[in-house]
Amino acid sequence: MQYKNFKNEISLSRLGMGTMRLPTCGSSSDIDYEKAQAIIDSAMKSGINYYDTAYIYHGGRSEEFLGAALAKYPRDSFYVADKFNFQAEPDYRKQFAEQLRRLKMDRIDFYLLHGIQDSFVDDILASGAIEYFDSLKKEGKIRYFGFSFHGSPQVLRKLIDAYPWDFVQIQLNYYDWYCTGAKELYDILEQANIPVMVMEPVHGGMLARLRADAAEVLAQLGAECSQASWAIRWVLSRPQVQVILSGMSDTDQLADNAATVSASLPLSDAENEAIRKAAMLQYAGVAVACTGCRYCCPNCPKGLDIPLLLRAYNDAKIGGAWRLTSVLALPEDKRPTSCIGCEACMRHCPQSFEIPKYMQEMKQMMQK
Ligand code: SF4
Ligand code: SF4
Repeated sequence: MQYKNFKNEISLSRLGMGTMRLPTCGSSSDIDYEKAQAIIDSAMKSGINYYDTAYIYHGGRSEEFLGAALAKYPRDSFYVADKFNFQAEPDYRKQFAEQLRRLKMDRIDFYLLHGIQDSFVDDILASGAIEYFDSLKKEGKIRYFGFSFHGSPQVLRKLIDAYPWDFVQIQLNYYDWYCTGAKELYDILEQANIPVMVMEPVHGGMLARLRADAAEVLAQLGAECSQASWAIRWVLSRPQVQVILSGMSDTDQLADNAATVSASLPLSDAENEAIRKAAMLQYAGVAVACTGCRYCCPNCPKGLDIPLLLRAYNDAKIGGAWRLTSVLALPEDKRPTSCIGCEACMRHCPQSFEIPKYMQEMKQMMQK
């Protein structure tokens, strides 16, 4: 494993273990403890010392799982990152106390305001949450304080000016760099010299399952490696990046990512150019670049599996409406026709996708 010094105080593994996509039991959000424990054990064995969870992951069960899974290891052999979710529970005192209870820990090493978007940044700034968490930092219940971000460059600058943050977490991968403006956010953080924690380095798995033409560009480089490893190596090459979080769902993924990070191979000019080309080809073929984070799902009054439906939407846009046959396999009340256009999902989507519009479009495609 490769490590990087953080603030001249501690050493963090470059690869961090995300716990948003742990294996589940069947189609429920219940974590499969046995399989998930095996992943955490492999992560510890491979030298990962940064473990990221959040109040809302796995329907609120991720923290409890992570605390239990790490309990057998010495507390000073790992760092836990956890997040305050303003939208799920605005009472920050209550949420933090609940998080310590779920983790069965007396401190959180890295604490973040979760998924800040332009739509609620002013509410959170006025809420007193930052002052409260700063007081917890002084008490030692939080060691480092930061935020994860899904907003505009203007709002990122505003937040940076509001507090001396220890770190910031952004979505960073080669697709978002070339196609959706992530470079501007990264540049702002680099200029401010704030360590960057990276989420979605493989864009929710999309960069491990590239369209055929984009995949071919990388295959022509002739290297014996996975598509995901190109994405990880690309993020590793950004100097401001501290930890690359990957929400690993099985031990094979973990082994592949850990091997990529340990090998630490720099990218050549030709490889960088191929990656840029692959990003552009992928962009041309993807209608909605949903990361599958599922933040929208608990808010849908109709219980629609929105990321699954958006995958079908992407397939249909690229391959034709007949591809929506996968949607017809769903129970009638779980199809896009059930969407009532309430927009509750949109308010929670970090990518600000106009989900009801896509549901409406799918309804029309299905009627043809
Ligand atoms: S707009 Fe449709 S998909 Fe979104 S939350 Fe409402 S019913 Fe669900
Ligand atoms: S639509 Fe948005 S919130 Fe829902 S899974 Fe996709 S990226 Fe996440």
